[in-house]
Amino acid sequence: MKLIRFGTAGQEKPGVIINDVWYDVSHLVSDYNESFFAGDALETLKEEISKGGLEEVSKDTRLGPPLARPGKLICVGLNYKDHAYETGAPLPAEPILFFKATSAIVGPNDDLILPKNSTKTDWEVELAIVIGKKASYVSEEQAPEHIAGYVLHNDYSERAFQLERGGQWVKGKSCDTFAPLGPFIATPDEIEDIHNLNLWLTVNGKKVQDGSTANLIFNVYFIVSYISQFMTLLPGDVITTGTPAGVGLGMKPEPWYLKEGDVVALGIEGLGTSKQHVKAYKQ
Ligand code: ZN
Repeated sequence: MKLIRFGTAGQEKPGVIINDVWYDVSHLVSDYNESFFAGDALETLKEEISKGGLEEVSKDTRLGPPLARPGKLICVGLNYKDHAYETGAPLPAEPILFFKATSAIVGPNDDLILPKNSTKTDWEVELAIVIGKKASYVSEEQAPEHIAGYVLHNDYSERAFQLERGGQWVKGKSCDTFAPLGPFIATPDEIEDIHNLNLWLTVNGKKVQDGSTANLIFNVYFIVSYISQFMTLLPGDVITTGTPAGVGLGMKPEPWYLKEGDVVALGIEGLGTSKQHVKAYKQ
């Protein structure tokens, strides 16, 4: 199953993609939210869909983030060796965790707004996990049954806010529009091997990131288990698993960052693509 949400920002309706066609399922499901992911609504939806008769949605329609605003958006930092090296950071012995404000979440193709006074807005293509069943102290072996699906994410980061303003990384990670999610959530059965997916990102058509989830230091099952030792993961929570090399901060000889007019495109094998136009902040 591939889950989408479509329509005007804040008023998105749930839909599905079947054989590359978008369908409205808002008569079957109120939204892809905590209660949807908590129960067996996904299975029920699958059954209902198999009966057919769904209304098609035009592909000119805006896609929103493919789930309602989650309780948590948790990020894993420095989870690819090549990215840790390019930032000059030591390889983490345990996953580095940080939060990103859920108000940063937008649709996959919405504009990126450079925050007020931003000089170092950077990109990070990432595989994100959507939690299904509530997870507290789960083992790595139990982790798969707590995962509802996977989604493409761009973990936009303002490096000056993140690294030069004191305190936690959260300042540089949480600006509005800094978390485009989508185009869709793929349920695990859609993905043959979650740990062997190509992920890439281009800026103005130039490929800057080109990695594979095979190179994750801590894999998705380990991460779900690990985080669940510190906090309860609720249905619909999103965990983003880190980015491979090729971010602006790591560019040689000099780092470079996004400016108004740039176009960022990204994708993960099996999880679709997204594109963001970079705009300046306006009052
Ligand atoms: Zn990241």
